[in-house]
Amino acid sequence: ATMPPLLSAIANAGRHGVLAKSAVVMERLGQVDIVALDKTGTLTEGTPRVTDLCPQPGSGLGQGGLLALAAATEHPSEHPLARAVVQAARERGLVLAEATGFTSAPGAGVAATIDGRTVQVGSPARLTATDHSEAGTAVQALEEQGRTAVLVLLDGVPAGVLGIADRLRPDAKATVAALTALTGRAPVLLTGDNERAARHLAAEVGITDVRAGLLPQDKVAAVQGWEAEGRRVLVVGDGINDAPALASAHTGIAMGKAGSDLALETADAVVVRDELATIPAVVALSRRARRLVV
Ligand code: ADP
Ligand code: MG
Repeated sequence: ATMPPLLSAIANAGRHGVLAKSAVVMERLGQVDIVALDKTGTLTEGTPRVTDLCPQPGSGLGQGGLLALAAATEHPSEHPLARAVVQAARERGLVLAEATGFTSAPGAGVAATIDGRTVQVGSPARLTATDHSEAGTAVQALEEQGRTAVLVLLDGVPAGVLGIADRLRPDAKATVAALTALTGRAPVLLTGDNERAARHLAAEVGITDVRAGLLPQDKVAAVQGWEAEGRRVLVVGDGINDAPALASAHTGIAMGKAGSDLALETADAVVVRDELATIPAVVALSRRARRLVV
């Protein structure tokens, strides 16, 4: 027997490096008319590196001390920024203190207790500090260079700021162009990161619609807004913070290689080859298969 078109489309998508979880997904991929891309780990490689260590004057910490504190707190987190911090500490051979009571707030940061003190590591816009002034200057300088600034608080007081930089995926620009041609509209960038860093990156790939500083529920609200207008949204993401948006979108695709378990479970399809360019390829594939079905 010949294979039904949508089943061959699943097999073809697999050859392109995308695992679609059902024939229905293959059908839906071809219907999308707006694409929302996450930034960290989706548009970028997701292997960011620590580039700057700025201990707060008067904190009593040097660069190594600041990094060790941040890494001890980030240790259990699977966020790409957390892995960058832990990796930087490992490269410098730093000994990490034992942290207890780890908690994480998706799209904001992490916290733990070290030596009886509360350490928070995360977004400068999301953490409330007693005094931001000195740290604020460092944050702004880093963000103006397109970097992600990560604030470290010790019992609510700024202990310093880390600068982290990530590279665009090599196929990001071509993928954005292909998706723009397919849907007739440039993709939108949805990110929890700061506006300055996000715009810096978006401009390099031809994205002008940038929604920054979003929490997971804000990404959902953006998707639901478009769907309420009758649009069919394709969300592409990798993180725990993307899972609610992946679930609420018409179709959700997760980046498989560095993606969080929750994102992979929630998405309708998974990119297993770790190339962004597989996405326009499978959208086009789905459209061809649909023409055969109807
Ligand atoms: P994106 O949407 O670009 O993938 P996220 O929503 O995962 O970004 O994160 C948004 C912001 O929250 C980050 O830019 C960072 O400031 C902060 N953040 C989230 N998790 C962490 C973490 N584990 N360590 C440090 N900062 C974090
Ligand atoms: Mg991400």
